[in-house]
Amino acid sequence: MDMPIRARDIRDGVARRDLSAVEVCRAALDRIASLNPPLNAFLTTADERALARATELDARRDVQDLPLLGVPVALKDNLCTRGIPTTASSRILEGYTPPYDATVVERLEAAGAVIVGKTNCDEFAMGSSTENSAFGPARNPWALDRTPGGSSGGSAVAVAAGMVPLALGSDTGGSIRQPAALCGVVGFKPSYGRVSRYGLIAFASSLDQIGPLSTSVADAAVTMDVLAGHDPRDSTSSAAAVPGFARALDESETVSRGIRVGVPRHLFSKGVDADVMAAFDAAIGVMRDRGADIVDVELPHSPHAIPVYYIIATAEASANLARYDGVRFGYRAPEARTLGEMYERTRGAGFGREVKRRIILGTYVLSAGYYEAYYRKAQQVRTLVRADYERAFTRVDVIAMPTSPSGAFALGERTDDPVQMYLSDVFTVGANLAGLPSVSVPCGFTQGRLPIGLQFTGRAMEDASVLRIADVYERATSWSSERPPVPAPSASR
Ligand code: GLN
Repeated sequence: MDMPIRARDIRDGVARRDLSAVEVCRAALDRIASLNPPLNAFLTTADERALARATELDARRDVQDLPLLGVPVALKDNLCTRGIPTTASSRILEGYTPPYDATVVERLEAAGAVIVGKTNCDEFAMGSSTENSAFGPARNPWALDRTPGGSSGGSAVAVAAGMVPLALGSDTGGSIRQPAALCGVVGFKPSYGRVSRYGLIAFASSLDQIGPLSTSVADAAVTMDVLAGHDPRDSTSSAAAVPGFARALDESETVSRGIRVGVPRHLFSKGVDADVMAAFDAAIGVMRDRGADIVDVELPHSPHAIPVYYIIATAEASANLARYDGVRFGYRAPEARTLGEMYERTRGAGFGREVKRRIILGTYVLSAGYYEAYYRKAQQVRTLVRADYERAFTRVDVIAMPTSPSGAFALGERTDDPVQMYLSDVFTVGANLAGLPSVSVPCGFTQGRLPIGLQFTGRAMEDASVLRIADVYERATSWSSERPPVPAPSASR
């Protein structure tokens, strides 16, 4: 069978019994089996668990109202899944199988979703290209010699290539939105605290959020209806009432007039590719045609966002990664004579280069004598970055920017120059530093036919209105329906 590309169409088909959950699940698993050799989007598939689950859904009579009934879902491999290996793409977690499910996994399954597997990512979600994976890079389905972006690259590829209609990623500084942009799919980072992180392998705890990648804004909204809400097991999850996300989109047709869209044009003066700028300007024109007011805004401290992010993220990572000591999880170096030697050898062999670089950097900025100069200073500037957004949001409803300054870059192009790689995140880290909801939607192609993303960022906890404004844009264009050419299964071998 040809699996529908939208989660909502699958759900409706299974609920009406036009499709069976088992047949949809088989179609997803078959497509993964044939396309994964060139794309390397999945590290693990859970065929038996998925088919058993689909069989159970088909047999039950009380499921037709479930919002994700029979929808195959892929999970970034930093989300814990009971009984399914979970590595965060690191050798240090090779062989680790969690004894519990992340809250988002429980919620997806309770909503009728079928977990089909775990996707490739940068090691511990550190990167912008999925090249830091210990298990080889994922490839962009639009051009196999290019990266899909990162760190949730495998999830973006899985959705873009039609292996699954829906995937989860995590976004610490852009890792849902940037790969979504580079692969031509929708990616949404919720407000800080909106989705429970219980069971997410922590990278930088004041920045990490889990969110969906999908082929439409409507599917992202349905997924948020499932994921959002307080979780007693995550003390940072918000107790604020959860709005109806999918319901908010029903008003998209009527509310577009008068939406105030802020554009911080001063940030685009250098480093943004001409194709990206042209697509962005055209997208702003679409919003104007839909009745939106386009307003110039300034985010004066945004030029500092990258250094601030890389101080705070590495500091928090150095603390979070202290737990990988060879005792509690995954890999342990053999034949060490002392405890100290066991730690050193385990961490020396288990972590990749980028992760080590960040642990060293993070330990340095937190150390006595440097804490005030770096970490504390970064937190102070973070407050200024957040205040810039708050000031802008007194005048506008959302801020629009390109998601990424360029389309997908070549594999290997930025791996020798970490700073160049870090600059891929210039438009995405601000939303994480300020805790804001932010979405990337497809808005065109480069001359070489690589996807381009448009990013809308909104006020804290106004996740539903950010999705609604993205939906207004999506309905006015057809970019989200464009699919990459199907790569020949043997293409890159
Ligand atoms: N690219 C950024 C980094 O390398 C963001 C990663 C993320 O959002 N997980 O840290």
